[in-house]
Amino acid sequence: MNRCTKAFLYKDNLKYNLEQIRNYVNPNVKLCLAVKADAYGHNAVLTSRIAEELGYEYLAVASVDEGIELRENNISKANILMLSLATPEEMTDFFKYHITPLVFSEEYIKCLSDEADVYYSGDEKFDVFLAVDTGMGRIGTYPSDAGKEAKLIQASKHLRLAGMCTHLAVSDSISDEDQKYTYEQFKAFKEAVENVKAEGIDPGICSCEASAGLLNNPEVQMGMVRPGIIAYGYYPDQITKDYLQSKGFNIDLKPCLSLETKVVAIRRFPAGKSASYGRTWTCKKETDIAVLPIGYADGLLRRFSPGLKVTINGKNYPVVGRICMDQCMVDIGKDNPDVKLWDRVVIFGPKESGAINTADDLAKLGKTISYEVLTSLKRVEKIIK
Ligand SMILES: *Cc1c(COP(=O)(O)O)cnc(C)c1O
Repeated sequence: MNRCTKAFLYKDNLKYNLEQIRNYVNPNVKLCLAVKADAYGHNAVLTSRIAEELGYEYLAVASVDEGIELRENNISKANILMLSLATPEEMTDFFKYHITPLVFSEEYIKCLSDEADVYYSGDEKFDVFLAVDTGMGRIGTYPSDAGKEAKLIQASKHLRLAGMCTHLAVSDSISDEDQKYTYEQFKAFKEAVENVKAEGIDPGICSCEASAGLLNNPEVQMGMVRPGIIAYGYYPDQITKDYLQSKGFNIDLKPCLSLETKVVAIRRFPAGKSASYGRTWTCKKETDIAVLPIGYADGLLRRFSPGLKVTINGKNYPVVGRICMDQCMVDIGKDNPDVKLWDRVVIFGPKESGAINTADDLAKLGKTISYEVLTSLKRVEKIIK
């Protein structure tokens, strides 16, 4: 693809973060890297390859299709854990592509068990993780039912309990109330694990922490941690670098992705002329407007303007008027010798890209989180730098 609007993946930064995480996590704890949503917009195949090289044991996806994409691109060493649920039609692909599902509820386990009976002819065993809802209010069995459901899994001819998972709802908060809620979740998860053990069943790999939980409560790592956003260089919400340093932890992260485009037109605007839909911006005095071939379909969210500044040759210029689906306009000032047609424009990225913005800065502008900014780069090609 030759489109000038591209995202560049700074591979060394990604490796650096993955190594930082490896060093931060206790050595016997398994690592599961969340590569869902195309590795938060970073390219799941490239990211998974690097994680595999660094010995990450698990990769987490959100759909069967995401898992298949990895397998079809020779990601074969790591286990793939799927964090969302599938419907019966999708289940054969779990077996075919060795994707480990989260399961819970009698109906779901029964259905998967039936599908496994159809797929396997010998006495092969297929690994599943039991999901437990300890307070996230999304998927999972209640802790009190964990023993019963683990029994159901073990009783199935072709299923085997390989682990147990739960997810934290407020681990990215530093308020006392939320920290207390998180501890209740840990407690409930341990109860669920005990209930499984009480049935004489090995609970397997137990996992309760994503990025925020891991940073905020590093003493509760259990058998596996499932970081996502920190691998891509961003701290989750209130668990900032300063906060961690105040607690005596020094985990350094580097953003890994830059979003770039080029100036494709420079146009003289007379005073009084407006730019873009809705005519929300009108120029006060004669100026030059650079047109960029990037818009909200590329992840440059409509709500970033007004406020967004982009970098051209080391200087910052405001996006003016509404961001369109595929284009936006930048006020570069009249007769600006620093901006020429086809010059490179950096929207956000790591220091090395020359950007002023990170995905966090854009997130603040758009009243959202870095996760949404990064996963919005759907149409943009990702290139390894
Ligand atoms: C997305 C997700 C993760 C990773 O979350 P981060 O906040 O990016 O670290 C881990 N576990 C589950 C169940 C998830 O849905």
